[in-house]
Amino acid sequence: MSKVTDLLYKLISIPSINPAIGNKTELQGEARVAAYLKQYFESYGVDTTLEEVEPGRSNIIARFAPVDGRPRILFGPHMDTVGVEGMDSPFEADTRDGKIYGRGACDTKGPMASMICALLENKEALANSPVAIDFVGFVDEEFAQVGAKAFAEKYADDYIFALAGEPTECQIVHANRGSLWFTLEAQGVSTHSSTPHLGRNAINELSQAIQDLIAYGSDLEQYTNPILGQPTLSLAMIRGGEAFNQVPHSAELDVDMRITPEFLSQEGGAEKALKAIFSSHQHIEIKKYGHSAPLVTPTNLPILTHLMSSLGYSEAVTSPGCTDAAPLSAAGIPAITTGPGSIKTAHQIDEHIDIADLESGVDYFNKIIHSLSNYTA
Ligand SMILES: [Zn+2]
Repeated sequence: MSKVTDLLYKLISIPSINPAIGNKTELQGEARVAAYLKQYFESYGVDTTLEEVEPGRSNIIARFAPVDGRPRILFGPHMDTVGVEGMDSPFEADTRDGKIYGRGACDTKGPMASMICALLENKEALANSPVAIDFVGFVDEEFAQVGAKAFAEKYADDYIFALAGEPTECQIVHANRGSLWFTLEAQGVSTHSSTPHLGRNAINELSQAIQDLIAYGSDLEQYTNPILGQPTLSLAMIRGGEAFNQVPHSAELDVDMRITPEFLSQEGGAEKALKAIFSSHQHIEIKKYGHSAPLVTPTNLPILTHLMSSLGYSEAVTSPGCTDAAPLSAAGIPAITTGPGSIKTAHQIDEHIDIADLESGVDYFNKIIHSLSNYTA
């Protein structure tokens, strides 16, 4: 078994389901992966620290060169995974037909293992290279990206570039739409269904808000971005009511939007946009909301042009999903997303990565390390 395969087997065997996904179980949280990586890096003599972001949840930073004022780049995969419902043995890596199966195989423990092996192969050279490269394992990419946000807030000034490690089939993803999700709650007044006029029907209230939302969703063309296209809006989940003979006192709707920089700038931010949509709805409350920024890293950024020409790439691509590249970039560290493996099996019950891709991923990051660590502006 090659070193990278061995490392991926180990990483898959350590559960790290995002704590925001599904019911609370002991399989949740990134702490075990972080602890394993810390001792792994330390066994190679790499200076490694854990930085707590939330109780029990720490980013890990492994520095391949001391902090001495030289420009720095970070390789940042995430340590969490999505849930494992429907999977037989999600934490027992299994090889069939040249593919490694298991939760995290491609998203993103496989790309992470490739990155780590390439960094360790270049350990001596990196200690003295003009540009330092650090490995940063983030918590919480699969939910609210609190790991990348906290890191960027603290260290944005230290870094000139970032690579979020994700399965992109080794393409360079430089742009993706951001996301905005929210839950609406319609508040009614409960009464017996035979006397509905004595109450207020929360489902009626919600359905009026839904009509407005559908109209709003069909009018998003004005926020089109030349690279990303237009925002979209999708009604995702609906809950409400208690019984046939009862006028419901509450009803809820979850909505997912994918947004462009134009949406945010013209609407004056996500929160303001939401308030405006529902300003005329007295009994509708935005119960919770969250958003992640869109990513548009210009392809003429000198360090990206340098990297692409070293790789012989003529184009960077866009992706439909969000990654940690967006919050890093929003906080001032220009970022891209890249790594071996295909996003097609990410989050699926048959998640896997081809061993050939995993191993050529090490060569790919080797080339990237040679290119970036010798970059001079
Ligand atoms: Zn991922």
